Amino acid sequence: MAKYKVVITDIGYSTYELEKKVLNAVNAEVLLYECKSEKEIIEHARDADVLVARKAEITKKVIDSLMKCKLIARYGVGYDNIDVEAATIKGIPVANVPDYCMEEVSDQALALLLSCVRKITSNDKKIRKGAWYIANTDPVFRIKGKTVGIIGLGRIGKVFLRKIRAFEFDEILVCDPYIDKEQVEKNYSINMVSFDYLLRNADYISLHVPLTSETKHLIDSTAFEKMKTSSILVNTSRGLVIDQHALYNALKMGKINSAGIDVYELEPVPKDSPLFTLENIVISDHSGWYSEDSELELKIKMAENIANALTGNKIKNVVNF
Ligand code: NAD
Repeated sequence: MAKYKVVITDIGYSTYELEKKVLNAVNAEVLLYECKSEKEIIEHARDADVLVARKAEITKKVIDSLMKCKLIARYGVGYDNIDVEAATIKGIPVANVPDYCMEEVSDQALALLLSCVRKITSNDKKIRKGAWYIANTDPVFRIKGKTVGIIGLGRIGKVFLRKIRAFEFDEILVCDPYIDKEQVEKNYSINMVSFDYLLRNADYISLHVPLTSETKHLIDSTAFEKMKTSSILVNTSRGLVIDQHALYNALKMGKINSAGIDVYELEPVPKDSPLFTLENIVISDHSGWYSEDSELELKIKMAENIANALTGNKIKNVVNF
């Protein structure tokens, strides 16, 4: 019998052989579940040495039930589905994998932006229905010379910044109250501005903030009022950063030009979502993180960190201690 028990609460990948190989080597068995409720998670994870969650909600009740857990690990960057405060009170470290998909998410943000600017997706749909020569029925404007705004200049925001330089924007505006303005302006030759200034002046806005109580509905109906009617909004961060009802209204009423969205208030997006009735939104399915390469990187980093926790080595990327 294995010495340790690693419980994965919700599966999402086609194979877990890599995790099993790394963890079996430190005498741990990996148990895979598709838990649908808090009760099921408690049932399977209460005696786990490590609990690993993907999208499952790891609530205070779940955390309080853990008898000997050494680590709560989140398969991914965001950890807003884990009650970190409850874990801290119980003395359990929570760790994520913050550095595996910056290239992919920034590419996704760019792809969504370009599809909105060049009308790729909306025109594709029209062309398939028999339309042709539709180029100027929905005007397209040049990217070079415009102003781009980045909200949140962390890991992904910085990679996005590196990539967009090639487009020769007139101005790159950044809003991030938690980084050193002078140092960032010097190192990256960008203008650090207020949230309000960015909303009013940017032609394209890309969101790269974490979901916190402060960023929940950061982009609400008031924010949409401040944005240019020609502006394009891209969100690859977390769905709740935008008030989705306000987004629908802004797109429907032409308060902004269009939006490229990878993340939603509720996922999967319900079939009858009003967003699906709009032509000026490009929709992806929270797949910004994914490539074969990033998935492999995520799994290796995750498994090695769990092995660290089980063997008494330093756990990387702990978010609460
Ligand atoms: P990060 O923590 O490295 O950077 C976030 C940045 O946002 C930080 O610099 C922080 O100072 C800044 N910030 C915080 N509050 C802010 C506010 N109110 N206004 C402006 N800036 C603020 O995070 P990251 O790794 O770059 O991830 C960014 C987002 O992308 C997260 O929401 C993450 O969950 C999401 N993400 C999505 C996918 C996907 O598949 N779509 C994949 C990975 C990460």
